Amino acid sequence: MVQHELPASARVGTGSPVRTCVGCRERAQTVDLLRIVVGEHGPQGAVLVPDPRRRLPGRGAWLHPTADCLSLAERRRAFGRALRVSGKLDTSAVDRMIDPLEKNRHKHS
Ligand SMILES: [Zn+2]
Repeated sequence: MVQHELPASARVGTGSPVRTCVGCRERAQTVDLLRIVVGEHGPQGAVLVPDPRRRLPGRGAWLHPTADCLSLAERRRAFGRALRVSGKLDTSAVDRMIDPLEKNRHKHS
């Protein structure tokens, strides 16, 4: 087994649930990921609804709230697979969730 220098917080047992980002496929704690569920079908297809409080019922997909991971997920159609929906998906609501976060990050650095 390869020994990676993983911090203790990345291992199981800390109590924080870990999910896989549908964009980059890396595992992360749910607090660092944005949960996304399927809402109603609109004119652009099934609407993806961001669920930052992680309370909405149903199947969820997990994504780093970054433009990079969102475009990766879109390109590989990971939302459709993770959320069991076929056809077009409307990601505009997720886009709106991500933009301000990206701006905040730039402001802090
Ligand atoms: Zn990611």
